[in-house]
Amino acid sequence: MDSTPAPKREYRQTAQRAMILETVQEAEGHLTAGEIFERVRRRDARIGYGTVYRSLHLLAEHGLIQELTFADEASRYDSRCDRHDHVHCSICGLLVDVDVPEALMARHVAEERSGFSIVHHHTVFVGVCPICRASEQPGGRNESARARGTSSS
Ligand SMILES: [Zn+2]
Ligand SMILES: [Zn+2]
Repeated sequence: MDSTPAPKREYRQTAQRAMILETVQEAEGHLTAGEIFERVRRRDARIGYGTVYRSLHLLAEHGLIQELTFADEASRYDSRCDRHDHVHCSICGLLVDVDVPEALMARHVAEERSGFSIVHHHTVFVGVCPICRASEQPGGRNESARARGTSSS
């Protein structure tokens, strides 16, 4: 193959990148680079962490996956590239997709009030997941869970 001068930012598919992309797409949740590295390694033990890390950035840069960054935590990688929001458990770190149509309203409000043209926005709702909530409850009663159910009568 002749070498064609490629611009720096061009995405070139390689077998390793394809495998890394596949790993993110097959994942049931939102994995960190470290978790993705562990999975990729099971398929190809020769791959290095640096390669995985750089490839993830590249894939995100080219819109093939989404990189989610958190202030004090490792980035997570999301196979869903469409706009959506997340709920994040502050106890166990679980990150789950949530579709909140009202979040789009927030964007319009932000544009109106700031004069900015907003190109991207992502909302993370931080809280306690059902599993952690269950183990947190001292008496183990279900009353509060029931009271939360919204019934329109
Ligand atoms: Zn939790
Ligand atoms: Zn997601």
